[in-house]
Amino acid sequence: MRIEILTLFPEMFEGPLHTSIIERAQKKGLVEIKLHQLRAYSLEKHHKVDEYPFGGGVGMLMQPDPVFAAWNEICSSLPQRPYLIYLSPSGKQLQQADLKRLAQKEHIALLCGHYEGIDQRIIDQLVAEEISIGDYVLTGGELPAMVLADGLIRLVPGVLGHDESSDDESFSDGLLEYPQYTRPAEFEGLKVPEVLLHGNHQKIAEWRRKQSLLKTWKMRPDLMAKAHLNPKDRILLGEILEESDLSYKNLSIAPLVISDEL
Ligand code: SAH
Repeated sequence: MRIEILTLFPEMFEGPLHTSIIERAQKKGLVEIKLHQLRAYSLEKHHKVDEYPFGGGVGMLMQPDPVFAAWNEICSSLPQRPYLIYLSPSGKQLQQADLKRLAQKEHIALLCGHYEGIDQRIIDQLVAEEISIGDYVLTGGELPAMVLADGLIRLVPGVLGHDESSDDESFSDGLLEYPQYTRPAEFEGLKVPEVLLHGNHQKIAEWRRKQSLLKTWKMRPDLMAKAHLNPKDRILLGEILEESDLSYKNLSIAPLVISDEL
């Protein structure tokens, strides 16, 4: 996978790109990331890149010309234009499913806004998709770009070792991940659940599935409504209901989950 990052603050990426799994992925040649300083494409003598918005209003906007110039230069040497994503609070809110979809793309470019945002003509003419990392406003698109890049890079085959597989984790099947424990088996009187200590893989898998269902039900009932539950899951849910203080009322979609199959 190749990722171009267009930004006014490339130095913000130094730490995240040169640490841990993301650095290792680049060293292994699985991912190539290039930073492009947009200021270098400003023709203004002080390399200014922002201006007041037409029509008035607070703050400054990034001007179109440096972004168009950078994009044209990036694309000039390529057979195909990268898929350009603008990180923006107006975009589609990023989900794991989007990461899976975008991880299929060979070459991606990320445009980071700053100040009050960017001139709309950049979005209309160049941008393939706008992505938000959540319903809140940050000072720039650099952290959101890094969030997106990080989420994508860990899905590239070979980036995560065997021990770090992404198959089993939160959202991979619509549910949250089950609780996990490591050594010691007992810490200041706090014990690891017995079932995990005995190597009965079927029992462990069942316990984990049940915990995933319970956790999702408690923490994210909205996800339960969308999860694909099989008949076995419904039986486990019935058991959870019996064992816990959760009631149908806690679950906005209870009639859908606890069906007549139980
Ligand atoms: N005035 C804009 C906010 C600009 S914030 C508005 O009301 O929508 C400055 C830049 O930070 C944006 O151009 C965008 O690139 C980035 N940004 C801020 N919050 C973000 C978010 N939640 N997701 C993705 N990018 C964000």
